[in-house]
Amino acid sequence: MREIFVIKNGQVFHSEKKVFMNERIYIYNEKIIAKDEVKNTDNIIEWDAKGKYVSPGFIDIHVHVFENYAKLGINADKIGIEQGVTTVVDAGSSGWIDFKKFKEMIINKSTTEVLSFLNISSTGLVGGTNELSSPDKLMKMEEWLKIKADEPAILGLKARMSNSVVGNQGISPLIHAKTLARETNVPVMVHIGNPPPKLTEIFPLLEKGDIVTHAFHGKKEGILDGDGILLPEAKAALERGIIFDLGHGTSSFSFETIKRFKRRYSYPFTISTDIYDRNFTHPVRSLMTTINKLLAIGYELKDLLQAVTILPAQCLSLVGYGVLNPGNKADITVFDVANVEEELVDSIGNKIISCRNLIPYATWKNGKIVYEKS
Ligand SMILES: [Zn+2]
Repeated sequence: MREIFVIKNGQVFHSEKKVFMNERIYIYNEKIIAKDEVKNTDNIIEWDAKGKYVSPGFIDIHVHVFENYAKLGINADKIGIEQGVTTVVDAGSSGWIDFKKFKEMIINKSTTEVLSFLNISSTGLVGGTNELSSPDKLMKMEEWLKIKADEPAILGLKARMSNSVVGNQGISPLIHAKTLARETNVPVMVHIGNPPPKLTEIFPLLEKGDIVTHAFHGKKEGILDGDGILLPEAKAALERGIIFDLGHGTSSFSFETIKRFKRRYSYPFTISTDIYDRNFTHPVRSLMTTINKLLAIGYELKDLLQAVTILPAQCLSLVGYGVLNPGNKADITVFDVANVEEELVDSIGNKIISCRNLIPYATWKNGKIVYEKS
């Protein structure tokens, strides 16, 4: 007899239409199925989501989960399924040299799905945080083509383009990253921070599908000028399909910057945490906490849910993710919304009071419950 799981009574978020509907989700064999596919002979197991929200599984496109290696990463399930996140992308912890270890220690052992933007530096972030300070450290084309062909979890490249990372190499590591990415038709995730290189050098090199993480940092020479207007190069990049990503991190998210951006612009952006061991308890905490900060700033829940479901799935070209349609993966995030006041902080230490807070309730990965609030 087939076992069919049914999630009933929840407010189901349809990410593609941006609406909530009170309806049932049918799950069989890792996938969502349509109601009319259910047969009389099936064994139906109901799961009650009364009073809860039911969303496509959250995707966090910037985390560091290379745990127990070089004191950086955090446990993937602790920030993944236990926080309502079904898929994470490790952004550059590993370069090609350590990728085999990363796969054995992390990807193969986590319940949370772990994907990777491979660091353009051979040694990655785990080899030291000035990973692009010498041309010798850059991954070569033949190394890239080999590992990309062997490893389906690698979705793109990570290039950290700020002063402390590139030293006197300027913009050249990004030019190299783009050459490798173009050859294989994958996106580059570019980290921005303290210049040089300047954003006016970085943005013109990017193409449709590339991702700019830490977009809303509060450091000098960010995406907005003194009047809150986007740099012409940043605006042109958004217009041609470059994606802004939040990438909270220890020092890369400013309430002031996002408020100024929101005042004038409605470009969608992805929400990610840049979470790792050192920023987990403060200030990042989780992807839902990051969403709560944006709710407190005045963004709509539906827009924020799109920013962790359908939008990252599209950015990563993940087919069958991010939308709860029959045939798609049964990766599902069930959450509560608590109307309680909570003080939340950005990376600079600025505070905000949030009144509506998302709380993880249950997580389904590949059609199975993998976390339930106790
Ligand atoms: Zn990062």
